[in-house]
Amino acid sequence: MKNIACFDVGGTFIKYALINSEGEIILKDKYPSPRENCKVNIPKTMVEKVKEMQESYEIHGVGISTAGQVDSEKGEIVFATENLPGYTGAKLAEYINKELGLKAFVENDVNAAALGEMWKGAAQGKKSFVCITLGTGIGGAIVADGKLFKGISGSAGEVGHMIVNERGEKCNCGMEGCYERYASTSALIRQYEAACKEEGIEYSDINGEKIMELVHKGDVLANKVYEEFLYHVVTGLVSITHILDPGTIVIGGGISAQGESFFQAINKRFKERAMKSYSDHTEIIQAVLKNDAGIYGAAYFALNSL
Ligand SMILES: [Zn+2]
Repeated sequence: MKNIACFDVGGTFIKYALINSEGEIILKDKYPSPRENCKVNIPKTMVEKVKEMQESYEIHGVGISTAGQVDSEKGEIVFATENLPGYTGAKLAEYINKELGLKAFVENDVNAAALGEMWKGAAQGKKSFVCITLGTGIGGAIVADGKLFKGISGSAGEVGHMIVNERGEKCNCGMEGCYERYASTSALIRQYEAACKEEGIEYSDINGEKIMELVHKGDVLANKVYEEFLYHVVTGLVSITHILDPGTIVIGGGISAQGESFFQAINKRFKERAMKSYSDHTEIIQAVLKNDAGIYGAAYFALNSL
């Protein structure tokens, strides 16, 4: 039996856990992400936590799921936004190895979540699937034959920046008409606000949950916007299916918490629009591990890399 110290680095918290090779969580907690010099402070706090774990358990390796662009060969952060100030360039694996003599394995958070779902979540037993997170933006990971498909530079799976509307809305990435401009939770909010303005309807403090409440109450405008939003979500799912034929698409992130009603709506519209030769064997399902997907994925990745 091996024990892995796992971390999931996000902009607000760093979650950590001790997971064994059976996939049992032995301990789990979190601490606030450092607000400065993350390049130094994040690996330092990780080493402290592993040392604490070592007082009671034998640790065989370290698995890290993290926000930002990752070079998982080197275990380094290639680029991170200012949500984690000064994190770009962090040499996580090298530092941990130097301080603790343990091997550390680093993967980006969407890829880690996909591995977590394959190991202990919605995609158990699946060899191939695509995992998508619909949140502020849209993230994606492709699993083929039980392994992450990462492309030649490790960047494959950026479904959020698949163009669904040439000359469409400007995206943060510099292009126009990206999927996440239309099908993320923040897109739903923007679309609802725009519709309210057009109709001269007052609104304040609107968020995804409030829009969904209005949808379920039968509010006409909210339903119109939601229907258009579902159309955009399905556009991307159909394109992904026609390119990859993954059989299963796992969706996590904010909007997926709507659960069954959302997935029924998506599957119905998907079957109407995708080619029958694909849709017959394709299912779109809800991610189940929620906040633990990253640590499970980090553990799985480390166990399979040791
Ligand atoms: Zn984009």
